[in-house]
Amino acid sequence: MLPYYIEYYGNPSAAYDYATQSRRAMNEARKQIADVIGADITEIYFTSGGTEADNWAIMGAAEAFTFNSKKSVPGHVITTQIEHHAVLNSCKHLESLGYEVTYVPVNEFGIVDVKNIEKAIKPNTCLISVMMANNEIGSIQPIKEIGRLANDHSIMFHTDAVQSFGHIPIDVNEMNIDMLSASAHKCHGPKGIGFLFIRNGIKIPPYQHGGKQERRVRAGTENVPSIVGFGEAAHIINSRLLMDTEYILKLRNHFTERVINEIENVKINGSTEQRLPGNINFSFKSVNGEAVQIQLDFNNICCSTGSACNAGSKKISHVMEAINMPAEYANGSVRFSLSSFNTVDEINETVDILKEVILKLRDMENMNRL
Ligand code: PLP
Repeated sequence: MLPYYIEYYGNPSAAYDYATQSRRAMNEARKQIADVIGADITEIYFTSGGTEADNWAIMGAAEAFTFNSKKSVPGHVITTQIEHHAVLNSCKHLESLGYEVTYVPVNEFGIVDVKNIEKAIKPNTCLISVMMANNEIGSIQPIKEIGRLANDHSIMFHTDAVQSFGHIPIDVNEMNIDMLSASAHKCHGPKGIGFLFIRNGIKIPPYQHGGKQERRVRAGTENVPSIVGFGEAAHIINSRLLMDTEYILKLRNHFTERVINEIENVKINGSTEQRLPGNINFSFKSVNGEAVQIQLDFNNICCSTGSACNAGSKKISHVMEAINMPAEYANGSVRFSLSSFNTVDEINETVDILKEVILKLRDMENMNRL
């Protein structure tokens, strides 16, 4: 990324020769990213991150429906109860504009039943948006089946793949995906850069209006160093996907086994099979997840309760609510994210400290009750 802050500072949209290298690098990154999901380079549009990509896909599909529908029927969007707020709040916004939204429930493992999506389809359904994998509990949705369903009904299909890009295999053609959002910082790339894949032939209006960048549909000078970093991160993570997945799964299994065997009254949230390799989410009975997080933080161990974007919120997360987690467990949910940079020693140290923390917090809770 560094040369693109200094030596190759040229604006990629400029006509002067100095811009050539920036333009070339941006196209190389576009190719590196397109290759990860089996897309064509002309289908990748850089954005400021996953949030913008999600907003664009949802608002764009709704606006396209309104524009194309001859009658003035409001469009209808189908999504799930456990989407990230970038999707949920876009849908809430659509509702405030008069659109209809159905929030399909998930099962106890955080997985949606395709039949429930099918039942929700109406004549005015213009978009199905279902995340590929959940950010809190890592549950992976039956994306290929949902894509087929959407395709059979000629409904646009968007998936928020922010947590999945670079972590599980994705093929936008095999999965019948029309639009896909992703973000670089979830695959070791820089923060503040993402993309929206829009299948060639799918027409949605721009979300950001202005200049002619990104083939005239996403205005604004491109963040070249971050795009270069994203391309490189995507290329590296994808070339190591199988090897890293195997390693991360070993770490996760070791972590899970130790926690289950050595700590009482703990539940694993989400599915054990249909799950992102690096995601693990425990609920400790009668313990406050935030207290666990703070104690671990004192020991330089980073974990999260609910989604990081929700930190500070007292309410149990919408995901815990959707999977019907009993209250005595829901408050004690803690998520750990593992990567190929973690080691067995780190996992062992984490479990050793976690055991002490849970014992201490439960003792304090018992004392308070007396
Ligand atoms: N979607 C999911 C599933 C996420 O986990 C996140 C971020 O955590 C986002 C969207 C938002 O992405 P960004 O922070 O790049 O805007």
